Amino acid sequence: MNIVLLGGPGSGKGTVSNLLEETQNMGHIATGDMFREEIKNETDLGKKAQEYINKGNLVPDDITINMLKGKINQFKDFHGVVFDGFPRNVEQAKALEDMLEEQGQKVDLALFLDIPDEDIIYRTVKRRICSNKECGAIYNLEYKKPKVDGICDICGSKLIQRKDDNEETITERLKVYHEQSKELIEFYEEQNLLYRVKLHASVNITKEMIKEWLENYNKNR
Ligand code: AMP
Repeated sequence: MNIVLLGGPGSGKGTVSNLLEETQNMGHIATGDMFREEIKNETDLGKKAQEYINKGNLVPDDITINMLKGKINQFKDFHGVVFDGFPRNVEQAKALEDMLEEQGQKVDLALFLDIPDEDIIYRTVKRRICSNKECGAIYNLEYKKPKVDGICDICGSKLIQRKDDNEETITERLKVYHEQSKELIEFYEEQNLLYRVKLHASVNITKEMIKEWLENYNKNR
């Protein structure tokens, strides 16, 4: 089963991905993480992407799609893949269809994490992530605090704040998100693949919730 996650910045896509990876043995592709890795390694791609990311804009489609094309084969042996932060628009959604079709696969579910804008700002400013890429645990200083300040409960690494998780960049990211997401949501709605989950600020997404969403989705098909 291949799942596409839709939703604004800080809507919980990373948390859902981590749980799906853990509970359903799915691969996890996060284009935002891929870009952050390229930036850390100071590659040409990273340098190009950074200009857009720092301003809260999307990296152009050709760069993003080519980056994904180069990596998608690594996930062939998984029990499906969860796509986190890709596609961000219809052009990318069509490119994903083509990439999956080449492997005899398709998107099976577009899970839309629907959360009000004011909650998004609150969630992202308070978000902290584990600096250990292999772990990638996500915390929130209000409703999912680590047991020890600044330290990951799971692996003991330092927690960090993403550079683009500040109010100014988030406001721009939200604007970009709203410009692109309507069409994308309609794209999956028309194919009867969309499953909308309504959330609010203090929701701490759990394994049980995911199980229930997947069961409901399957029941309503
Ligand atoms: P994320 O970690 O998904 O919030 O992504 C962080 C930033 O990376 C975004 O604000 C964009 O600048 C860039 N990015 C991530 N995924 C994409 C994508 N599919 N298309 C374009 N830009 C992306």
